[in-house]
Amino acid sequence: MIDVINLKKSFGDIEVLKSINITINKGDIVAVLGPSGSGKSTFLRCLNCMEDPTEGSIIFKGVDIADMKVDINLHRRKMGMVFQHFNLFNNKTVLQNVMMAPFYLRCKDLKKIKRKNSIVRFTNIFRGKNKKELLPVDTTKEQIKEETKKQALELLKRIGLDDKADAYPSTLSGGQKQRVAIIRSLAMNPDVILFDEPTSALDPEMVGEVLELMKKLAQEGMTMVVVTHEMGFAREVASRVIFMDEGRIVEEAPPKEFFENPKDARLKEFLSKIL
Ligand code: ADP
Ligand code: MG
Repeated sequence: MIDVINLKKSFGDIEVLKSINITINKGDIVAVLGPSGSGKSTFLRCLNCMEDPTEGSIIFKGVDIADMKVDINLHRRKMGMVFQHFNLFNNKTVLQNVMMAPFYLRCKDLKKIKRKNSIVRFTNIFRGKNKKELLPVDTTKEQIKEETKKQALELLKRIGLDDKADAYPSTLSGGQKQRVAIIRSLAMNPDVILFDEPTSALDPEMVGEVLELMKKLAQEGMTMVVVTHEMGFAREVASRVIFMDEGRIVEEAPPKEFFENPKDARLKEFLSKIL
């Protein structure tokens, strides 16, 4: 699904990522470990081109999205991102948070279709597992809104928060906020979700509910790249674990091998401190 080839990123004179190479296949759960400052967040942000790579390619479903010529927004919407600090819109309700992006994009798609003035096969309009649906040109914005709302409520129900649809994020616990952020990214029907330390800002008693939801997504076959300090998650859920140090991937292995038989000296030291 994603091929990262010779990815480099510098800020000024400082090279933060030094030739990263990795292939992420459909259904992979890649856990990314490493000390603070090793480049984990920068790597994730380069993956969906929130940061422009200085060098290298990121081939996402056959297209090099690091290439300045491609329409990055078209590809980025198929890559969800979940942040440590949730990044919910505090002045919008929970429901609005979940609906906003898909509603906006579907309206934009509708405009495009209307311009073409024909019934166009569109893969992306109404969510459904690999379902290609037809969106008739006479679809109205209201219909799109209704459909998007229905799906958003279904997603909220899935995490048991449909009763919070009209609440504002400030009234939710940290665990609830993060679960809303996760299903908000899911509402875009992404091919992959990137998580940057999704549980690091949570009180300990709320970590479990968020990991549980992530585990469910993993079991359903979602492709995920997860920067985390949760060793239990890396061990049990990840299909591969990578260790970053000073802007490089210095070890990459299935979890059992990674934890039981680490090879890199820096990884050994890292594990000895945290396990
Ligand atoms: P990690 O997530 O592993 O803690 P980061 O990717 O956040 O590491 O940071 C890696 C290095 O890049 C750090 O030294 C950090 O200071 C630097 N860095 C990150 N973002 C920027 C930026 N926007 N400008 C300058 N330096 C940055
Ligand atoms: Mg980070």
